[in-house]
Amino acid sequence: MNKFMKKRHSLGQNFLTDPDIAAQIAASAGIEEGETVWEIGPGMGILTQELLKYQPRLTAFEIDGRLIPFLEKRFRDSLEHIHGDILQQDWAALIAGKELKLVSNLPYQISSPLLELLQRHHQSFKLSVLMLQREVAHRLTASPGSKAYGALSLRMQLNFDIEVVMDVSKDYFDPVPQVDSSVVRITPRAIPAQIQNLTTFHRLIRIGFSSRRKTMRNNLLPHYDKATLLKLQDSSGIDLQRRAETLSEAEFILLSDLL
Ligand code: SAM
Repeated sequence: MNKFMKKRHSLGQNFLTDPDIAAQIAASAGIEEGETVWEIGPGMGILTQELLKYQPRLTAFEIDGRLIPFLEKRFRDSLEHIHGDILQQDWAALIAGKELKLVSNLPYQISSPLLELLQRHHQSFKLSVLMLQREVAHRLTASPGSKAYGALSLRMQLNFDIEVVMDVSKDYFDPVPQVDSSVVRITPRAIPAQIQNLTTFHRLIRIGFSSRRKTMRNNLLPHYDKATLLKLQDSSGIDLQRRAETLSEAEFILLSDLL
């Protein structure tokens, strides 16, 4: 992309301007030579360049066809680039039983579906390092009782340990976006949560957080009759007058298993 090409806001094209930050992101992925790594949205390649220093087998997915000739020229045969939308790829076929690492300065408008895909294929990703909108990073790492804690925190923490590696000011991007960013490192949990029925669990957290100001009981009432809720409260020992944001993962699992 040269200076005459317009960066596309609709594709989240806010390019990182500081190579040191790119180097820190790459370093926090702990890549060993020959490891399979995916990068989503290489853009002009500031992060790609740092990743390649570790000599991985790097596959980069870039949706914007205008960038492909530039990437081809810059990196030649040192990476495989797939021109296309990461959300439209056949992940299972591409993963093909391998264990991967994922590193990306994500286009923020695809954060939610991308995290969903990561969750669905969690067994294949031994580590992910993602630059995200700071607010999303806080939600991913939130604990019960905090403002950021919600359905996304619970869903992702079921399978992953998530930590913030560093905060990145919006001033390090071109063009400067409206929000600040944070880099998170996502690794598989040593002991993933055990849940009897995942569909029920997901439904429960969706309903529980549907109105954050309401109690669990009031959020659940349109979906379950009073007798069921009374029984649920008695058998779980969990006061349903509490709000969802105060309930721990273990408490949600207990409620879900009883339901
Ligand atoms: N990695 C570069 C950097 O750090 O400067 C660019 C990051 S920029 C935030 C996001 C990149 O993702 C852009 O190059 C954009 O074209 C690309 N992109 C946007 N949506 C995409 C999608 N669905 N699949 C693959 N790439 C996408």
